[in-house]
Amino acid sequence: MFHIPEHSSAVGTLAWALGTFEDRIALSTAFGPGGIVLMHLAARLKPGVKVLFIDTGFHFDETLAMVTRVQSRLDVDIQTIKPKLGVHEQNKRYGNELPVLNPTKCCQMRKVDPTGEMLNGLDAWVTALRRDQSSQRAGTCAIENKVINGRDIVKINPLVGWTRKEVWRHIFEHALPYNTLHDNGYLSVGCRPCTTVSTDPNDERSGRWTGHKKTECGLHTAF
Ligand code: SF4
Repeated sequence: MFHIPEHSSAVGTLAWALGTFEDRIALSTAFGPGGIVLMHLAARLKPGVKVLFIDTGFHFDETLAMVTRVQSRLDVDIQTIKPKLGVHEQNKRYGNELPVLNPTKCCQMRKVDPTGEMLNGLDAWVTALRRDQSSQRAGTCAIENKVINGRDIVKINPLVGWTRKEVWRHIFEHALPYNTLHDNGYLSVGCRPCTTVSTDPNDERSGRWTGHKKTECGLHTAF
């Protein structure tokens, strides 16, 4: 069981994690603002740090453009992971409307399952989860000891205590690249069929899966 003091800074938590797990650790991101901060902090501690991005096949062009934008600014090694089924095969098998009619199934195939496979090769996984993102994330801890696919994995959430304002301050102070959709009213950016301009400026997840009760793709509840 791993524990670190709850008051550890994001940099302190990351330094401990990157030093402890060496090449058995990776960050994961969909290039949200928290992920950008995380990559910036981690790259300064460990140049060439491994970053995993799940390309669901449904991302906005602005999100896909982040791969090269981030890689030209930060010393990170971004590895793209794709779901087993291509979008075309999924549409043929389950219909084009799956993201709308059954987003839980679609997220399972395009996000949760690839994340599970990605974690098979790791002992530790770093995410940009923050408590202030939603009521579902309010209880997140900086270090979570998990058993995933029968293996011990340490999930590390260094930004857990940061606010949205602090994240954006860090991005602007360091002139970091960010998804330009955020300039057009999107507080949180996921896949194209399931993301709209945010309807509530105080609820970061309000533009995700509009019309459904769902606010999480499921990977942070499954793992
Ligand atoms: S967010 Fe939407 S399109 Fe993306 S995996 Fe989930 S249901 Fe499918």
